[in-house]
Amino acid sequence: MRMCDIIKNKRDGIELTDDEIRFFIKEYTAGNIPDYQASALTMAIYFRGMTDRETLTLTKEMAVSGDMVNLSEFGNMSVDKHSTGGVGDKTSLIIAPIVASCGGKVTKMSGRGLGHTGGTIDKLESIPGYRTSLSTEEFMAQVKKVGVAVVGQSGNLTPADKKLYALRDVTATVDSIPLITSSIMSKKLAAGSHNIVLDVKVGSGAFMKTPEEARILAEKMVRIGKMSGRNIRALITDMDSPLGDAVGNALEVIEAVDVLKNGKRGHLRDICLALTTNMLSLIYGIDDDEAYDMARDAIDSKRAYEKMKEWIAAQGGDVRYIEDVSLFKKSKYSAEVLSKEDGYILSMNAEAIGNASIVLGAGRAYKEDTIDHSAGIIISKTKGDRVKRGDVLCTLYSDRQDSLDPAAEHYLSAIRITKEKPQQNPLVYTTVK
Ligand code: URA
Repeated sequence: MRMCDIIKNKRDGIELTDDEIRFFIKEYTAGNIPDYQASALTMAIYFRGMTDRETLTLTKEMAVSGDMVNLSEFGNMSVDKHSTGGVGDKTSLIIAPIVASCGGKVTKMSGRGLGHTGGTIDKLESIPGYRTSLSTEEFMAQVKKVGVAVVGQSGNLTPADKKLYALRDVTATVDSIPLITSSIMSKKLAAGSHNIVLDVKVGSGAFMKTPEEARILAEKMVRIGKMSGRNIRALITDMDSPLGDAVGNALEVIEAVDVLKNGKRGHLRDICLALTTNMLSLIYGIDDDEAYDMARDAIDSKRAYEKMKEWIAAQGGDVRYIEDVSLFKKSKYSAEVLSKEDGYILSMNAEAIGNASIVLGAGRAYKEDTIDHSAGIIISKTKGDRVKRGDVLCTLYSDRQDSLDPAAEHYLSAIRITKEKPQQNPLVYTTVK
């Protein structure tokens, strides 16, 4: 088999055979196919697309290119949630203990933040002592005992995706539906959970900019998940503005505690309830209303808060920080960003706000950058809110005083204010089952 013929077939719109796809993934992962041929093929896929059969084969071959986690001992109780990435998205910190406190086995392998989006592992590392890497035995024992473990992705999970994603990133082939589907779903298949809930973000802070694009991606991922024998749903949710009030690692942990300990209301809690409803409905095979009541009761009774403490302690984290969030280290400097006009907040460009948080030190511009866990933004006025000139829009936190002015500029460039009260986007556009 010759790589050149595979590229030509895809270029000419001929469906690839399973053998051709298998050959490409095996040989590319092994280093036997050069990047210029792999990028020619991904570009041909970008323009020609892939049938479900091709996408399924690509997904499965990428999944088995490295370690496969075996969670069969948890039967139908294992559950994973995946977000396509956003700004201020701390839902995993809230969802994992809700579902575990209801009896689910939450097994999550999360990523670090890159670009304008944050990563769950960076957020958890702001809790002193939290171990993001566990041996397989420790991971399985913790899931069995506590019902939840959240770790970083192991070095040998889907190496084919690591190589291909890095290539796509520099060849303008990230935003292809079959390539995103196989990238995300191969990781989910390798991570082993029987039940999967996908949170497909749409809006200015997301890969998918329109609900229509997001729906096509969500439907494809759900089909591929089902064809692979998994129980799966996808929610299409709004990422046109940051989720919740906090952007930045420790600040987001504090907000998550606020929801579980103090019952903080708002969009963040609502999205978490929507996601956990679907996770519990899949695990127990119950209808959504019953699952919603279960999830809400877990928050209201503080069982989810107690489970959060149990989880953090089991993974080595200093649980006093969860009990008393004032212990988190504070930034040396802070500055308020004030509104320059009267009106309503029409839009908040989530990507630009994510970039403001990077300037403050809360995220990475490059993989090797270190993170300032206390840096970030607390948003005081959000989309749809009325503001007057001089009102505080947000407060910036950083250990670098010289970052405050440029971050404020990024923040102000993200906000559009109008005289008319704007319409709100729905929080959850649709659920694909
Ligand atoms: N997230 C992934 O893991 N892969 C993609 O291709 C896009 C988003």
